[in-house]
Amino acid sequence: MRKPLIAGNWKMFKTTAEAKDFAESFKKLYVSSDIQVAVCAPFTQLKTLKEAFQGTDIKVGAQNMHFAEEGAYTGEISAAMLKEIGVDYCIIGHSERRQFFAETNDTVNKKLHKAFSTGIVPIMCVGESLEERDAEAAFEVVKSQMAAGLKDITAEQAQSLVIAYEPVWAIGTGRTASPEQANEMCGFIRDIIEELYDDDVADKIVIQYGGSVKSSNAADIMNMEEIDGALVGGASLVPEEFIQIVNF
Ligand code: 13P
Repeated sequence: MRKPLIAGNWKMFKTTAEAKDFAESFKKLYVSSDIQVAVCAPFTQLKTLKEAFQGTDIKVGAQNMHFAEEGAYTGEISAAMLKEIGVDYCIIGHSERRQFFAETNDTVNKKLHKAFSTGIVPIMCVGESLEERDAEAAFEVVKSQMAAGLKDITAEQAQSLVIAYEPVWAIGTGRTASPEQANEMCGFIRDIIEELYDDDVADKIVIQYGGSVKSSNAADIMNMEEIDGALVGGASLVPEEFIQIVNF
C-alpha cells in the first residue's frame, strides 16, 4: 500500500527566522498519521528545518540540486551537500525551473540519477502548459517528459520515485485542474510507469497532484483513486492552512 505524500514547496519564500516560526507553529498543530508530510524549503532553511523537525516524522526536501558530484559550478548545490544535512527529498524539474532556469528533460534525467545514487528521493515534476492542453497534446507531453526523464533509471530505483503532476496552467493561478482531470493524468502516468517498468513498480510509485491545492479543495483531490498526495505551493506557507491540507 502506498503512503500518500503531502509536500509543501515554499519556492523562494521565507527567511530563517520565518522558517523557524513556521516550524514551531506547525509542530504544535501536527499529529502524526499515515500521511507522509514534507516541507521543501530554500537551501538556506534546510538545516534549520531539519533541526526544528527533529523528533517528528516530518521530512525535509530541497527544491533543486546539481547533477555533478562536485566541481566548478558557481552558485550550485550538490546532492552530497544536501545529504550531509539529512535532506530526504529533492524536487526535480519543477516547471518554474524548466521555464526560468533552462531545465530540460535531459538535466532532469541527470539529476534523477544523482539523487538516486546519493540516497535522496526525487520528486520529479511533469506537466503540460495551457497551450499544450488546448492543443490536446497534454498526454503526449507528459509521456515524453516521463520517458526522457527516466532514461536508464532502473526498476529498483524507480520504486522509490515520487512523481508530481503539475499542469503549468494551474500553478499559482488559482485555477485548479478538476479532480477528474488530475486523476486521469495521474492514472495515465501510472500506466506509463507500468509500460516502462512493470505493474509492481507502477503500484509502488507515489503520484502527487500540484497546482493551486488549498484547504478548500484538498479532500476532493486527495480522495481520487490515482492521486497519492499533493505538492502545495502558496498554501504551504501558512501553518494553519497547510495543516488543514495535511488533515484533509
Ligand atoms: P501553487 O500551489 O502555489 O499553485 O503552486 C504549485 C506548485 O508549483 C507546487 O510545486
